[in-house]
Amino acid sequence: MSFLPIADAAFYKLSDIRPEYLTRRGIRLLLLDIDNTLSPYGTEEPTDEIKAWVSDMKNAGIKLFFVSNNHGERPSIFSEKLDIPYIKSAGKPSRRGALAAMERCACSKNETALVGDQSYTDVLCAKRCGITAILVRPIDLKSPHFAVRYFFELPFRIAAKEKHGRCKR
Ligand SMILES: [Mg+2]
Repeated sequence: MSFLPIADAAFYKLSDIRPEYLTRRGIRLLLLDIDNTLSPYGTEEPTDEIKAWVSDMKNAGIKLFFVSNNHGERPSIFSEKLDIPYIKSAGKPSRRGALAAMERCACSKNETALVGDQSYTDVLCAKRCGITAILVRPIDLKSPHFAVRYFFELPFRIAAKEKHGRCKR
C-alpha cells in the first residue's frame, strides 16, 4: 500500500462524480470533505447543483457521510441542510474519522471512497485507510493561501491515476 498522496481518480468538481461511477466500482459509501470541496469557505448554503447531486447519490443508494477537519459549526450546518451525518474535527490525514464513519455505516474498505480537495489531508487519509481516494479541484483558488498550497500539490494532482472531465491537473 502506498502512503504517497496520489489519488485513484481526479475530478474537476464534486458534482462531476456520478453515482454510476461509484456503483460500477462497488462503492456504497462516499466520505465527503466539506471546506472547498462541497462549499467554499464563508458560505453556509449549499448550491442547487450540490442539492441535486446529493439527491442523485442518495437515490442511487450511495451513502454520504461528512468527514471534516473543521472544528466549527459548518459540519453541523451542512449536515442539517443536506441530511448527511457528520464527524467534525476529524484530523485528516488521521484515519480516526474515516474509520468511525465506515463502522457506523457498516461498510468495508472496498465499499468506501473519500473525496476531498487536498492531497495531504484528504487523499493521504484515504490511502492510510486503504480506501479509494478521489481528488477534486478546490472550489476557491483565489486566496493566496489556497493558491500556494494548490501549487505545491500539483505534482500529486498530475500523478492521479485517472483524470476525468475538465480535470487535467
Ligand atoms: Mg477541504
